[in-house]
Amino acid sequence: MSGKTYPLNKIKYWLCYDIDAICRLYGIHPKTALAWFKKGLKPIDNKKPILVYGYNLKAFLGDLNKSNKCSTSFEEMFCMKCKEPRSPLKKQIQLEQFEQKFLKAKAHCQTCKTKMHKPYKLEDLPQLKRIFNTVQLLELYDSKTPTSNTPFIDQEKSGQKESKKEQIQGDFFL
Ligand SMILES: [Zn+2]
Repeated sequence: MSGKTYPLNKIKYWLCYDIDAICRLYGIHPKTALAWFKKGLKPIDNKKPILVYGYNLKAFLGDLNKSNKCSTSFEEMFCMKCKEPRSPLKKQIQLEQFEQKFLKAKAHCQTCKTKMHKPYKLEDLPQLKRIFNTVQLLELYDSKTPTSNTPFIDQEKSGQKESKKEQIQGDFFL
């Protein structure tokens, strides 16, 4: 699952923050803020109420943002252009094995068509095959898509009717 990212420019470096202030800053539940301490956010000391220096909060959230950005669900890849996890276009991925135990999956972003890639473990292969259309390099995207009109160029000369009939037959086989 992809987590949210927290803008760091809201944090004042030398200010002290308590849980309430942090919650107001990011519109989060106190439970979320408290969980951050378990994940490594450093309080000023062990006294209550818990206070955090701005620079510690900043450092912590910077790391959290990074790991949230990288965490995509199994069937999503991170699109560098959308800056979001996206599903592969037409659920098509191209797989390449590397370093024996890993698979590099390449796909195009469903939203902006930018190339994306993501490493999977070789043992994920059965699941990948279940979820995606796994294709070889040259089959990717083009094979089943009637993108070009090339087969119909000649028919333009032979009149509308003929062309239409061919078109229907063509569609039938797609
Ligand atoms: Zn995209």
